[in-house]
Amino acid sequence: RKQQLLTLKDLPTETLDGHSVSLLANVGSLNEISHLADVGAEGIGLFRTEFMLMNTSTLPDEKTQYHFYCDALHLMEGKTFTIRTLDVGADKELPCLTPLIEDNPALGIRGIRYSLANPELFNTQVKAILRAANHGAIRLMFPMINQVEELEALFGFIEECKLELIEEEKGFGELSYGIVVETPAAVLNLSSMLPLLDFISIGTNDLTQYTMAADRTNPSLTKTYPSLSPAVLQLIKTAIDHARENNIKVSLCGELASDPKVAPLLVGMGIDELSVNLSSLLEVKSGLRDISYQTCLTLAKHALKIKRIEELYLYINGFK
Ligand code: PEP
Ligand code: MG
Repeated sequence: RKQQLLTLKDLPTETLDGHSVSLLANVGSLNEISHLADVGAEGIGLFRTEFMLMNTSTLPDEKTQYHFYCDALHLMEGKTFTIRTLDVGADKELPCLTPLIEDNPALGIRGIRYSLANPELFNTQVKAILRAANHGAIRLMFPMINQVEELEALFGFIEECKLELIEEEKGFGELSYGIVVETPAAVLNLSSMLPLLDFISIGTNDLTQYTMAADRTNPSLTKTYPSLSPAVLQLIKTAIDHARENNIKVSLCGELASDPKVAPLLVGMGIDELSVNLSSLLEVKSGLRDISYQTCLTLAKHALKIKRIEELYLYINGFK
């Protein structure tokens, strides 16, 4: 089976009737980036930058981070490169940062809240990325955004970083900007945020956690609150519809996209781009190449009417 999948590596990701989808990879290290070509990934839809800090006891300075992003860009050879700013807190604790003591870390200072609360840390990352963008296109996205106020604060912050770079006579490039849509509030607030954005990427791991109020790391909850459910599917659909109305590209980078039976459903719902783990990429490509876009549309139409989780799984898995 593995050999058979490898034959798909250099073939386009398109349905039987020629509807193409960008199939990108989720990565967390330079080593993973160097393996993109092994599975024919068209680029990176999610680079989890906190992963590069998992094994260090001290924070890398701007220069080190700048070289790191330049190395990554070099490996990308002009392919789509999407960097997510540090997503720390809750399930992502880093040895180089003092952990916060909070009663509810998943509802606390995490993701973009952490970055905005630690301007020195964030300034270093943003400046390093802006400088790297001088050498190639970078899409930057922010985790855990709920509302436009956060975006305004962010863009103000980025402007200040640029002014500093000008003062320091360091070159930098322009970025495109997106958010990870991973809370119900983000979905509901999209109309105010989309005018400020170039793309969105739906993060179904956290979107499920925050919609269901169910800890994503608690295995005793995953059966009752799986990643595919009518509630989350409605939120995904709402996000896609908003983005399309505004002509904004919509990507999905949660684990949900890694299921080759679910990917066609997402495409039928209007997703332009899927970002999946390297290990699932060829299976997902195979699933999409074996189905027509017309069938994806039918799948989506029916699935969105299903009201029960079990029925939804039966429908998706039984679909030929
Ligand atoms: C998500 O929340 O769906 C996501 C893609 O990001 P992470 O799993 O890193 O939180
Ligand atoms: Mg997330």
